[in-house]
Amino acid sequence: MTVQETPVSRRLKSVKHIIIVCSGKGGVGKSSVSTQLALSLHASSPNTRVGLLDIDLTGPSLPRMIGLDGHGVHQSSDGWVPVYADAGREEEPRLACMSIGFLLKNKGDSVVWRGPKKNAMIRQFLGDVRWGDLDYLVIDTPPGTSDEHISLLEHLAPVHSRLSAVIVTTPQAVALLDAMKCLSFTRAVNLPVLGLVENMSGYVCPCCGEVSNVFSTGGGEEMAKREGVPFLGRMPIDPELVTVLDGGGGEYHKTPSATLFSAITTQVMAG
Ligand code: ADP
Repeated sequence: MTVQETPVSRRLKSVKHIIIVCSGKGGVGKSSVSTQLALSLHASSPNTRVGLLDIDLTGPSLPRMIGLDGHGVHQSSDGWVPVYADAGREEEPRLACMSIGFLLKNKGDSVVWRGPKKNAMIRQFLGDVRWGDLDYLVIDTPPGTSDEHISLLEHLAPVHSRLSAVIVTTPQAVALLDAMKCLSFTRAVNLPVLGLVENMSGYVCPCCGEVSNVFSTGGGEEMAKREGVPFLGRMPIDPELVTVLDGGGGEYHKTPSATLFSAITTQVMAG
């Protein structure tokens, strides 16, 4: 049987790996992990080309976290031109970003849409954006398993074979319960899981370096072991990360995150 070409399949056939970042609940650091993962993949070699797509339509945080607040998307005869986070720094920019935040007139505007409109927007993000050749497309999703996730997979699963998910959780029992729901969603839709990230795992005191387990620690690792999915690593609560991300974007080079993101890259390459 021949698979029919669609605008989405045409755009995405030049994308090697698609990584969907999800979490059971909001505020656990999914957008932070997506942004830092895209930045570290981009930094992994001078030729690596990365896309970062934010499909959190009602709460887009990518423009600010990647340092592109206030930027807008341009329409060309060949579709939307993404906003490049490294424009002006590289001869040929390699970090393409897209978010509904780039399309809103005022960044405080709310998006109140039902499922079909969200689905149409996601189809446009996948099929109408000039992504070009990419080694990785990292997709930041809203919390939970909602309309956006279902739309995303309906568009991607029939046309792309190298799709996988990273699940982000914090170590508390309530967050882990929601992460478990996220994991069962991936199983129900046959989405391979690259692994689990435990964020906000301990607080490192900037004065003495002592680690306090504010939200406990290790729950994500235990869950990963129990469920037979790779544990990718943990990121402690770090005030510097908030300053970097909420303050307008940039890279964060602390050792735990560097180790974490290289573990994710290794899993992608192995997958
Ligand atoms: P989500 O996408 O899951 O809703 P975000 O990535 O938007 O979560 O993170 C929520 C807030 O927590 C942001 O202000 C972010 O800067 C902060 N944050 C995330 N991870 C950490 C961390 N490891 N240390 C300190 N602050 C963090």
